[in-house]
Amino acid sequence: MSDPSSLPPLREVIKKHGLSANKALGQNFLFDTQLLARIAAVPGDLSGASVFEVGPGPGGLTQALLQAGAKVTAVERDERCLPALQDLSDHFPGQLTVINEDALAIDLSELFDRPFHIASNLPYNVGSALLVKWLSSPTWPPAWQSLTLMFQREVADRIVAKEGSGAYGRLSILAQWRCDAKLAMSVHRSAFTPPPKVMSAIVHLTPKTQPEGVDPEILARLTQTTFSQRRKMLRQSLKSLPGGLAALAAAQIDGARRPETVSVNEFVAMARFLSA
Ligand code: SAM
Repeated sequence: MSDPSSLPPLREVIKKHGLSANKALGQNFLFDTQLLARIAAVPGDLSGASVFEVGPGPGGLTQALLQAGAKVTAVERDERCLPALQDLSDHFPGQLTVINEDALAIDLSELFDRPFHIASNLPYNVGSALLVKWLSSPTWPPAWQSLTLMFQREVADRIVAKEGSGAYGRLSILAQWRCDAKLAMSVHRSAFTPPPKVMSAIVHLTPKTQPEGVDPEILARLTQTTFSQRRKMLRQSLKSLPGGLAALAAAQIDGARRPETVSVNEFVAMARFLSA
């Protein structure tokens, strides 16, 4: 394995390649190698594992993943970062592939022919869209083994929220009905260059067995119908959904409740009834 001490510090990499942060691309870089090593450790032992990284930028997290022994395929939209990533690739021969593309346009099934992990300090402007895409895989379990993702703290809280909390909503249900989702670590805004206005956190998601007999699209429609009228009682909002009131009764849920009190399992029970 390569000696990390022979790599230039990330601040020098930025300077050498003129990588001033581009706000439109959500560029908030991490330089603290200890923090980066802790993030790369979240998925578990990566030696010999394949990892897909979105937005390597100057390569801080990439380097930590390579150092952990992973084989990384990274997609970066900003071509200014490519020479820095080439230096990293030279340092870890055969371990890093970089694609200069928009991550939203990437078809993961074309990139990997074996299971892989996804790890990213996500650009905030496309982070939720990518998460929803990965969670909406038509086949389950998906090809990815885990997601280790940096989000704004508020989004991270929504992903892991339980019923009864103000953060609980569609994203919580989408994430938790077929994944275990946990907050792996909080990251202070001062850890980034430039520092964003808000705090961040790493969430870790691993696929679990998908509940039987549930059509993902019906579950999505159910959560959309109820949470778009968050303050309404379920018996009001579900009137507009064919079979909605019958699903409430079948799942033995009191129609006077509001959606944020309904657990993931209860939503799944209603969706199963509607899917039958
Ligand atoms: N991984 C680096 C780090 O941790 O310091 C940079 C993270 S920075 C928050 C997000 C990175 O995603 C930037 O390098 C940015 O250029 C890149 N990016 C933004 N939008 C993207 C997209 N649609 N597809 C691929 N990369 C994107």
